[in-house]
Amino acid sequence: ILKRYVTEFLSEDDMKVVTMEAPPLTVPAGSVAMVVKNLYLSCDPYMRNRMTRHEVPSYIPDFVPGEVLTDNGVMKVMSSGHPDFKAGDLVWGMTGWEEYTLINNPESLTKINHAELPLSYYTGVLGMPGLTAYVGFFEISKPKKGDYVFISAASGAVGQIVGQLAKITGCYVVGSAGSDEKVNLLQTKFSFDDAFNYKKEPYLNVALKRYFPQGIDIYFDNVGGVTLDAVLPNMRLGGRIAACGMISQYNLDCPDGVRNLLYIVTKRLRMEGFLTFDYCSMYSQFEEEMAVYLKEGKIAYIEDVAEGLDAAPTALIGLYTGRNVGKQVVAVSRD
Ligand code: NDP
Repeated sequence: ILKRYVTEFLSEDDMKVVTMEAPPLTVPAGSVAMVVKNLYLSCDPYMRNRMTRHEVPSYIPDFVPGEVLTDNGVMKVMSSGHPDFKAGDLVWGMTGWEEYTLINNPESLTKINHAELPLSYYTGVLGMPGLTAYVGFFEISKPKKGDYVFISAASGAVGQIVGQLAKITGCYVVGSAGSDEKVNLLQTKFSFDDAFNYKKEPYLNVALKRYFPQGIDIYFDNVGGVTLDAVLPNMRLGGRIAACGMISQYNLDCPDGVRNLLYIVTKRLRMEGFLTFDYCSMYSQFEEEMAVYLKEGKIAYIEDVAEGLDAAPTALIGLYTGRNVGKQVVAVSRD
C-alpha cells in the first residue's frame, strides 16, 4: 500500500505491507469480473512516477495513498464471470500488489500462450519490458545491419533484450551498467561487443569516444540525465535516439543533467519518445517471435526474483539504486 505521495527518493517508509480480508474467491452470478491469484509481480521504474501527485494528469493515473499499488503481474484465474476466461487459466496484465485481486475488466488481461516457458517471463522478456525493447528497437530506432548501438541500463529488463535484438540484427553493440558484475553479464551472457561500468568513468563523453571512435548511430536511452548529455556529442550525423525512459530523473524534484541539446540540431538527430502501451497490437507477433528466440537459445534472459510481498518494497526501491541484476520480479506464489 502506498502510504503517502512521494516527493523525494523513494524509501521503505513510503509503503507498507498490511494484512486484510481477501475478496470472496467466487464472483457473484451475473458479474463479468474475475478473481485471480497473483503468482509473479513486476517491479517497473515508472511506478515511482505514479507515486507523485501530478497537477496535470499524466498518461496513467497517480497511485492513491492508502490504496494497493498496481502493476503488471502473472496470475491464475480462481473464478470468472467473463465468457473468455475460466478457472485455472493463466493470464498476465495489470493487477494489485496483493495475493488475490478482483479484476473488474478481465478483457484488459492477456492469456499466456507459452506456459512451457517460466511463467515469470511474462513480467519481463515475454511481457511489457520485452515488448518495449522490441518496439523501441525495431519501430523507433529503425536499425540497419552494421549500425553502432549504445544502450544505457543495459543489463536491466529492457536493456538486455535490446542489446540481443541489436546483435541478431547485425549491429555493433556496447552497453553501460552500474557494476562490474553487470558488465561481465553483458559481455559473457548477453553477447554485447563491449560494455563498461559508467560509475568508474570520470568523464562519460570521453569513455564513449573510446568505445565509439566512429560515433553512435542508435542510442537506446533508459536513463536520461548526464548519460544522455554525454551521448549527444558522440552521435553520428543523422543518428537516432529512442527515448525509452529516464530513470535518473524519477526521484528528482527538478530535472538535471542535459545541456548538449543543440547537437540534435547540428547533427540532424531524430530523438523519439514512445510508450509501449501504444503498440499493444504488436504483442502477438512479438510473443511468438520472442518465444522462438528463447527456446532456440538465441536470446538469454536474467531475472532477479524477490520472495514474497514483504520483500516487494525493497525490490522496487532497488531499481533506483541499481540493486537489481536483471529483471526485478516479486514471486508471490508459485502455484
Ligand atoms: P531496469 O531493469 O534496467 O532497472 C533499472 C536500472 O536503472 C537499475 O538497475 C540501474 O542499473 C539503472 N539506474 C537506476 N538509477 C540510475 C541513475 N540515476 N543513473 C543511471 N542508471 C540508473 O529497468 P527497466 O529495464 O524495467 O526500465 C529501463 C527504462 O525503461 C526505465 O527508464 C523505464 O522507465 C523505461 N521503460 C519505458 C517504457 C516505455 O513504454 N517507454 C516501458 C518500460 C520501461 P545500473 O546498475 O546499470 O545503473
